[in-house]
Amino acid sequence: MSAHGSDRPRVGTVKQITSHSNPIVKEIKGLVGQRKHRAQSGLFVGEGLKLATDALDAGWGVRYLAIGPEARENPHAQQAAARAKARGAMILEISTAVLANITRRDNPQMVVGVFEQKLLEPAAIRPADAQVWIALDHVRDPGNLGTIIRTADAVGASGVMLVGETTDPFAVETVRATMGSLFHVPLVKMSRDAFKAFARNWPGTVVGTHLKGSRDYREVAYKAPTLLLMGNEQAGLPDDMADTCTELVRIPQAGQADSLNLAVATAVMLFEIQRPNLKL
Ligand code: SAM
Repeated sequence: MSAHGSDRPRVGTVKQITSHSNPIVKEIKGLVGQRKHRAQSGLFVGEGLKLATDALDAGWGVRYLAIGPEARENPHAQQAAARAKARGAMILEISTAVLANITRRDNPQMVVGVFEQKLLEPAAIRPADAQVWIALDHVRDPGNLGTIIRTADAVGASGVMLVGETTDPFAVETVRATMGSLFHVPLVKMSRDAFKAFARNWPGTVVGTHLKGSRDYREVAYKAPTLLLMGNEQAGLPDDMADTCTELVRIPQAGQADSLNLAVATAVMLFEIQRPNLKL
């Protein structure tokens, strides 16, 4: 489907921009800086040619593709611009200074895209077709969320549920940390109450990770589809969320660290759950 919801490709336009006060530049800066703008517009910003190519390959809508002077000499960037344009995106030929201004970076990427947000409805989740889904309760750190989405992609997880009040999956820092996996991993939002009802009907293992978990995570026979529930960075999993789990496990630690970083703990769990399914 094209960026504007029609199957008929529309040819986009090309616009040169050198002014920092151009209204499109201001619009993109608003998307970078403010969650409110992303929520109102349903758009978000992603940086880099790889990310733009991932978005195009996965069929996500592209509103703008901004390309710097370097990209105009690069055949891969030109190809991405041609594909985006054929889908109705506006191509912005933009100066390096304006790109740096938009992305708040001294060395900006030569390609910056504005994409249409996409979330899966909870009713569209198909546990029967899944090996593992990940649920993150009140995840707060954009870097953690992006890293978890990237890891979910790497292990072939079916998707990530964002439970309760979470950081914005479409924030620039999150998108950056996904390294393009955002476009390949379905995301679902739900409240804690909705999650509890959902988990009660889950057909496989629902495993929560907890520093007070009584079982070693390596001793559990994970029954597919597995639903992996991870706690918030500061507070961990509250009791009512832990109660929805059929297993509560701990990753044993040596040394003085209180706990593992959330993204690291999620990766350790995912590679264990997916161990039988991952082959070199
Ligand atoms: N102070 C928090 C607590 O008491 O749970 C620490 C939270 S930890 C930084 C974030 C999440 O990572 C935890 O809620 C849990 O899901 C997971 N986690 C981190 N280390 C873990 C471990 N050793 N065993 C099990 N889960 C762990």
